[in-house]
Amino acid sequence: MTVINVTLPFGLIKKVDDYSKIINVILEQQISVNILKFSTGRSGINLLLDIPEDKINSITEALKKNKVIVNKKGRVIVDIEKCIDCGACVSLCPTDALHLDEKGLLEYSLERCLGCGLCIDACPRGAIEET
Ligand code: SF4
Ligand code: SF4
Repeated sequence: MTVINVTLPFGLIKKVDDYSKIINVILEQQISVNILKFSTGRSGINLLLDIPEDKINSITEALKKNKVIVNKKGRVIVDIEKCIDCGACVSLCPTDALHLDEKGLLEYSLERCLGCGLCIDACPRGAIEET
């Protein structure tokens, strides 16, 4: 299984049925899927989905056809000058891409980042931005 992050733009979901339609796009692939996280961000509803790795391409294509945004990996940058190492972003990061080192300083791993954007609004200093 592998984790992907998708965004349902606000305009896409006007009623509950619209949400079911998107989920059905995934279920049509005849796979089991775990919804790891459900949140709202600036651009829409973010879902973290745990899906079989061999289905990633077909699911991505099916979602894109339905105007769902499949976020690319590594889409944030952290401005270390602004960061005060408060850790607020760390607890929200689903992949441990943001963590505090043994000295309590923030570290960011581009490779682990899913680009979910959950950390962006959490930062009181505006130190995290989408790239
Ligand atoms: S966007 Fe932020 S919260 Fe999401 S995986 Fe990347 S570092 Fe973690
Ligand atoms: S929330 Fe912002 S200030 Fe706090 S550790 Fe994360 S990047 Fe740094």
